[in-house]
Amino acid sequence: MPQTLFPIPDPITVPVLGEAAAFPVHRIFCVGRNYAAHAAEMGVEVDREAPFYFTKSAVNAVRSGTNTPYPPGTENFHYEMELALAIGQPLFRATKAEARTAIYGYGCALDMTRRDLQIRERQKQRPWDLGKDLEQGTVLAPFTKSSDWGPVTDQRIWLELDGEIKQDATLAELIWSCEEILCHLSRYYHLRPGDVVLTGTPAGVGPVLAGQKLKGGIDGLQDVTLQLTDAE
Ligand code: MN
Repeated sequence: MPQTLFPIPDPITVPVLGEAAAFPVHRIFCVGRNYAAHAAEMGVEVDREAPFYFTKSAVNAVRSGTNTPYPPGTENFHYEMELALAIGQPLFRATKAEARTAIYGYGCALDMTRRDLQIRERQKQRPWDLGKDLEQGTVLAPFTKSSDWGPVTDQRIWLELDGEIKQDATLAELIWSCEEILCHLSRYYHLRPGDVVLTGTPAGVGPVLAGQKLKGGIDGLQDVTLQLTDAE
């Protein structure tokens, strides 16, 4: 390692159920509009030609169970409950079979969003970074190895806000399957172990306030939780 001017931040690592070693997160790719009912509630059309993506910095991810302050710059902070894929093998121009093999594990994730900023940026045809890539803006639950879970069929995906169900769908509603996403994404990136892909959120997104608690789950996977505290 070269000498550095200041300490290199530790990468976020995510526990893996039944495994002593944790999964170090390299990059986080997110799929937009991958459930028709969510696209409809956002007032946009689903593009069935190809999936599209935005990215969230790995340094902005936190583990499930974290307390995080209500973020700055927003008055409409939203939850999005998602299935996360943990990539365990290099993938480039992958076939579906290669994509399936490269999924090391699956987990529950929250794609936290400054919705007012995202919509403002969208209307001005600007990038979504202020709305999406916020500090502590991705919450990752422990991963379950693919050999212990799957295949993805019609597992329930849900989110509770202070105990009240807000999102309730099944993975059968995914427009682009996990394998289709990885085949497409690997035409543009050399995916590598440590990459994480969030596969989109079902309908029912909404605001979360300081003092409220989020809990999301997918059948057979470990829940993801987040407690929001007062703004700094
Ligand atoms: Mn999302």
